[in-house]
Amino acid sequence: MLLEKIDSIMRNISESKDNINFYLMIYGCLAGANSMFTLARAFLFAFGGIQAAQVLHKKLLASILNAPVSFFDTTPLGRIVNRFSSDVNSIDDSLPFILNIFLAQGFGIFGTIIITCYGLPWFALLLIPLGLLYYKIQHYYRYTSREIKRISSVTLSPIYAHFSESINGLSTIRAMRATERFTRENLQRLDLNQRAQFANKAAARWLDFRLQMLGVAMVTGVSFIAVLEHHFRSADPGLVGLAISYSLSITGLLGGVVMSFTETEKQLVSVERAEQYINNVPHENWTGILFPPSYWPIQGSFSFHQVYMKYRDGLPNALDGVTFDTEPCEKIGIVGRTGSGKSSLFLVLFRMVEIQHGEVMIDGINLQHLDLIDVRSRIAIIPQDPFLFSGTVRDNLDPTNSFTDNSLWTAIIRCHLDTVVTGLGGLNADVAERGKYFSVGQRQLLCLARATLTKAKVLCIDEATASVDHETDTLIQATIREEFKDSTVLTIAHRINTVMDSDRVLVMDQGKVAEFNSPSVLLEDRQSLFYQMVHGRN
Ligand code: ATP
Ligand code: MG
Repeated sequence: MLLEKIDSIMRNISESKDNINFYLMIYGCLAGANSMFTLARAFLFAFGGIQAAQVLHKKLLASILNAPVSFFDTTPLGRIVNRFSSDVNSIDDSLPFILNIFLAQGFGIFGTIIITCYGLPWFALLLIPLGLLYYKIQHYYRYTSREIKRISSVTLSPIYAHFSESINGLSTIRAMRATERFTRENLQRLDLNQRAQFANKAAARWLDFRLQMLGVAMVTGVSFIAVLEHHFRSADPGLVGLAISYSLSITGLLGGVVMSFTETEKQLVSVERAEQYINNVPHENWTGILFPPSYWPIQGSFSFHQVYMKYRDGLPNALDGVTFDTEPCEKIGIVGRTGSGKSSLFLVLFRMVEIQHGEVMIDGINLQHLDLIDVRSRIAIIPQDPFLFSGTVRDNLDPTNSFTDNSLWTAIIRCHLDTVVTGLGGLNADVAERGKYFSVGQRQLLCLARATLTKAKVLCIDEATASVDHETDTLIQATIREEFKDSTVLTIAHRINTVMDSDRVLVMDQGKVAEFNSPSVLLEDRQSLFYQMVHGRN
């Protein structure tokens, strides 16, 4: 009898041991699968996120680099920089991170609900009203929170603007003893932003409170159902325990899902903003139908025929029926009042702005039919506001690395820049951001040195007003005459004496060619605009 009892106890123990092993194995498998899927999700997010961010960035960059000049005229630089800094940062970094959290928490809550329903099937009934309530609460919160965040970022820019203005104008503020006024102004702007921030926090607390209540309702519901089931003796204590312990974590998960969803939505706005630029920014038409030989242009003669150009729709014509022809290797001086359309002539030559009507030809080839790269690489320009890229003198003189040091130095010496470049430390000296270490006149000289290197057949010079002193100017003129004697040179001059020895002078007036003749002929006519300019009556 005793032996039988011992035997049955031993059998029970070994059965329950088998059971425990079985459950432990399932538990282990679940943990293993969980780790594997978490790892897979992390990898997918890392690779997918980088891939998506790369594609978006490439497309965004391509659309900005191919945008026409009119786009940059109408778009503030800050807006473009914002796309490439804060929006790209959101796409690269914040979006994958928060989307990952949202998915994890979304699935977490899904699993919790399924387990609770498995433990206590009656709980499914309770889910319907609670789900509706949850939907209403999060819907209300998301819209409010989005608007508050918008207000908060709108009130942030004035603080930055005022702060940087104050830093820049610090000496003036101190000199005028206006420190207190500026501090007050700064505090007012901060206050305005704080109000939005406070509303943001209050909204978050509002949501938190409601979600806590919802969580409490769920746990109460689950416990109530458990008591009822126990009453009707249909409950499995293990499953009820499981359901209650899972339902306890629901409160945190509910809040997490709403927060991460709202944040994901907010970060997705950056993708929308990037897409907006990718799809809506117009592209310059790069490809042409004619491909001139590498030695084009040979003669460098121009022909403008009835050229009409305006910068944008709604603006008056900057060039209004310009017609003139030049001979090969002619030296043309372009003069005219400020805003008369002189620089616009060059922009049209380089097809920076497309013309509305007419033809611009070099050596008989219409520029409209060429590849943009051909047009821009065969003509040399010294712009009114020359731009140097940060880097060394060498990078700016010879970006493609195709000339020897000797030829670079020859060009520098010819343009009278040797003292400056040697002073900075030679060809490998840094020119600093935007060429800060050079004055505007020196930057123009560097552009001239670049033009002498390429031996361009056509040279356009847009003289910067009073950037170069008289003596240097005379030296430069001599260099240009010497180096470009076999090229066509168009010089926009603000000093009349620069154009006095040109072959012909083109006088621009309100976008039209007013006069085009040799300086001596124009000077004979006392009524001519050129005569009046020379004698200071205009
Ligand atoms: P300056 O002697 O001052 O250099 P300019 O003769 O070179 O003057 P342009 O720069 O050709 O004058 O300008 C001609 C006209 O076109 C002006 O009325 C000017 O307001 C307008 N304009 C020039 N650039 C732009 C632009 N980017 N967008 C819109 N209008 C422009
Ligand atoms: Mg100009």
